[in-house]
Amino acid sequence: MVTGSIAEPIVQKPRTVAALKCDIAAGRTKAAGLAASYFERIDALNPRLNVYLSLTRDRALEQAARIDEIAARGDPLPPLAGIPVGIKDVLVMRGAPATAGSKILEGYHPPYDATVVARLEAAGAVLLGKLNCDEFAMGSSNENSAFGPVRNPHDLERVPGGSSGGSAAAVAANLAVATLGSDTGGSIRQPASFCGVVGVLPTYGRVSRYGLIAFASSLDRVGPFAANVRDAATLLGVIAGHDPNDATSSPAPVPDYAAESDKPVDGLRIGIPAEYFGEGLDPEVRAAIGQGIAALEAAGCKTMPVSLPHTRYAIPAYYLVATAEASANLARFDGVRYGYRSPASETLSAMYRHSRDEGFGAEVKRRILLGTYALSAGYYDAYYLKAQKVRRLLAEEFLRAFADVDAIVTPTAPTPAFKLGEKTGDPLAMYLADIYTVTASLAGICGVTVPCGKTPAGLPIGMQVLARHFNESTAFRVARAVEAVREAS
Ligand code: GLN
Repeated sequence: MVTGSIAEPIVQKPRTVAALKCDIAAGRTKAAGLAASYFERIDALNPRLNVYLSLTRDRALEQAARIDEIAARGDPLPPLAGIPVGIKDVLVMRGAPATAGSKILEGYHPPYDATVVARLEAAGAVLLGKLNCDEFAMGSSNENSAFGPVRNPHDLERVPGGSSGGSAAAVAANLAVATLGSDTGGSIRQPASFCGVVGVLPTYGRVSRYGLIAFASSLDRVGPFAANVRDAATLLGVIAGHDPNDATSSPAPVPDYAAESDKPVDGLRIGIPAEYFGEGLDPEVRAAIGQGIAALEAAGCKTMPVSLPHTRYAIPAYYLVATAEASANLARFDGVRYGYRSPASETLSAMYRHSRDEGFGAEVKRRILLGTYALSAGYYDAYYLKAQKVRRLLAEEFLRAFADVDAIVTPTAPTPAFKLGEKTGDPLAMYLADIYTVTASLAGICGVTVPCGKTPAGLPIGMQVLARHFNESTAFRVARAVEAVREAS
């Protein structure tokens, strides 16, 4: 039974993947019963949190029954056998609605599964449904969803972060054991930090984007959320790897991330960039990250300053590159091929115009305008090309830093979760919430955000651990060391 008043936090830690799997293998837990209990919890709490946009009950229960049969036969179980998982609604699942948080995709039921969805299911996961997000993943608070904001399970008056707000809140409230999200400029890391869970930004090319509704193709990545580092590592191991359907996916072999995450960290060199600890950083966040750094030193890491001086140009560069690519990607939503079509138009061009005008929300329109402007003749060199040059400088700067250190740690976001409505009137203030996350997005490197303390009011704070391309294992190790200290205290 679910109790509690409207304003009370709705936080609950899911059991770990390993513990659940062990119980399913031994017959102590049935995958079907587990799935049913998650649907019950979702039915009870979703009206308050608005985390799920749609549920895939039949598919989940069929998969759970398959897992229970395998367990009953005593056959070996796949790595995510029976684990209830939620999917951000920018990834397609065969037959299920795919909205990307937008009205313009109303009625669209894709005929295929995203590669990551198919891989999760092949690994035994039970897919519960589609998770709320900012429209086309554009936002930092989930308030740009056409289906209403998600609420932060730690404080229902606050945002969960964005754009993968539903994915982060679902894990924090135990409405899934793990989830998938997408991260273009921080959309996995920032909400994970606001909701007190682990979020992973895999290296660009590490995970297939086949079946991801594109926002900015040179930046978009798919990655997992979980309640602990090991589970997040396990999920990444399942979804990572080459996919013939995505030419940008890398053939590099996939390590055993879960095993790697347990390796000790003594002797690792950790870089601390002063540029991430300057003006605008909330003092409570600064204090928590300071404690996290001290914990790493106590675990035998050697910390040292690193310099990333182009960080200050990252927000403008990101919002030029991302909007330019978005303006191209979103051209396909025209009222003809997918979803919503405006009913009352006399001509084809009026139908395009009205469908887009009625189907897209304000932030998406702002980005299409900005991006179209940045790419237009006469402005291309001044804006888009310049942003690409800044991007290259940022990437080179990271590579230079990684010549001296194994990982870089920073706050994930400059503040804890802010109040609903606090930044909706000021797009620039909203964009600044991404100040520490867009750099890794532009550089293509990987990172993990891990809970690293709370404010006195109980709001979670995340530490971002960045590592060089295809070195997720190191990011997991460092994140795990921070997590281990917190578990022990
Ligand atoms: N908040 C950033 C934006 O609005 C990042 C979004 C994302 O990573 N998808 O663009």
